[in-house]
Amino acid sequence: MDTNIASGGARLTGPRTVYTEAHEAFRDTVRRFFEKHVVPYHRQWERDGIVSREVWLQAGEAGILCPMLAEEHGGAGADFGYSAIVIEEIARTNCTGPGFPLHSDIVVPYIEDLARPERKREWLPRMARGEIIGAIAMTEPGMGSDLKAMRTTARREGDHYVINGSKTFISNGQLADLVIVCAKTDPAAGRKGISLICVPGDAPGFRRGRNLEKIGLHAQDTSELFFEDVRVPVENLLGEENRGFSYLIRNLPQERLVIAVRAAMGMEVMLEKTVQYAKERQAFGQPVIDFQHNRFKLADAKAQAAMFRVFADHCLALHMRGELTVELAAAAKLLGAEMQNRLFDDFLQVHGGYGYMAEYEIGRAWADARVGRIYGGSSEIMREIIGRTL
Ligand SMILES: Cc1cc2nc3c(=O)[nH]c(=O)nc-3n(C[C@H](O)[C@H](O)[C@H](O)COP(=O)(O)OP(=O)(O)OC[C@H]3O[C@@H](n4cnc5c(N)ncnc54)[C@H](O)[C@@H]3O)c2cc1C
Repeated sequence: MDTNIASGGARLTGPRTVYTEAHEAFRDTVRRFFEKHVVPYHRQWERDGIVSREVWLQAGEAGILCPMLAEEHGGAGADFGYSAIVIEEIARTNCTGPGFPLHSDIVVPYIEDLARPERKREWLPRMARGEIIGAIAMTEPGMGSDLKAMRTTARREGDHYVINGSKTFISNGQLADLVIVCAKTDPAAGRKGISLICVPGDAPGFRRGRNLEKIGLHAQDTSELFFEDVRVPVENLLGEENRGFSYLIRNLPQERLVIAVRAAMGMEVMLEKTVQYAKERQAFGQPVIDFQHNRFKLADAKAQAAMFRVFADHCLALHMRGELTVELAAAAKLLGAEMQNRLFDDFLQVHGGYGYMAEYEIGRAWADARVGRIYGGSSEIMREIIGRTL
């Protein structure tokens, strides 16, 4: 069982009950994979601003991509617990580069649920093998939170859609071989005029902009994308025309749970590293953990991480039963991201100047975590969603 994580050896909450032995056996495989194929290369990928294609193929080979994908499409037909284990093990290594969860748990489900059967056969097995890397493009330079304001259009011309517009902040944008593009097929209909259309990375008229320079997530490629009269067959439409917004709403809880699961593990791992540091670092003739202020900060952090662990596992269990609501997923994402940012700031402070150095994990984790309050729906949007239930 996964017990030896939070500081002091075990979590305050004791062993977790959300996973089976089979899940934990999979964790071993995933952990070994990350130790061998990700950790040794991650600093270089941070300098490059992108991970290698090879690691995607290796992940496919190791069975780490798309655990939930049906066996007939090349996946393992497993439950979300297996995906959560991949997310947790990435978080455990403090690596952010390989956009596996975005691919496996956000992009692939749209295609598996909504693509035409022949497209599924064409794309999904290759996505499970890491040969096709996926991305989803909702955000535009002029809008992010307010999806109905998007300006990218897809005009029907015979058997094709002709797509025009631009997107920005797209994760996996440089590497992507297949992009789910959110576009207006009925520009006058607001959110009821949005469709999801798959655009292959080599489609004429599709162009990638720069790999955007960010303050964190340095190994993850994030891009502008441009579409100029990009023609794709109507078979690349996901689901029905003009129903894109409802598909996005349906799938967003899983996307938000991905962020919450990562936050829960991130807090535990960084707490452990900070406690270790605070026990070793001496000031005024004693370890800095012996200053009551630091010890209390870390005790508060341990209590909060324990509380969030229980909540995150509850949401995970609900989702594995298909019962996670939009509102509860929003609460998990909101609390996970906000709490993680607060705790990481305290952890960095306990590290003193070393916390601000990129070679120390906490500094990088602090910068990487900041985006959690923004993407996947900002904290303010999460509060709006929860606020509707009041
Ligand atoms: C590293 C990174 C990766 C990303 N990856 C992707 C990706 O793969 N695909 C993709 O499509 N997008 C991606 N995004 C975009 C991300 O989802 C958006 O940045 C986010 O939705 C916010 O949109 P915005 O930046 O336009 O902010 P805006 O919508 O302009 O919001 C600005 C501020 O106003 C607040 N605000 C907006 N509306 C309200 C409201 N109704 N009530 C209260 N406050 C409000 C926001 O919370 C925010 O604080 C990524 C972003 C980053 C930084």
